[in-house]
Amino acid sequence: MHPFTWFLILYTGSALLLIAGVWFYYEKREKRVFDIRRKRRIFHCVKCGELYSIRKKDVSDGQQCPKCGYNNFELSF
Ligand SMILES: [Zn+2]
Repeated sequence: MHPFTWFLILYTGSALLLIAGVWFYYEKREKRVFDIRRKRRIFHCVKCGELYSIRKKDVSDGQQCPKCGYNNFELSF
């Protein structure tokens, strides 16, 4: 085989590996950012219209509005 062919194979091979590595890195980073955002619970007050969010795991009993104190339930998308 011509030596240039081997060079071409190695060159494209390393380029593909690099792309795969970058892609994998961004995929992981994206997931981490998404996890951080998902932990925030968003509430919308039906009484005064205030939009607020908290960092809490269990919100099944709702969360009080910081403006008027009305107990609101979590927004679900
Ligand atoms: Zn309110």
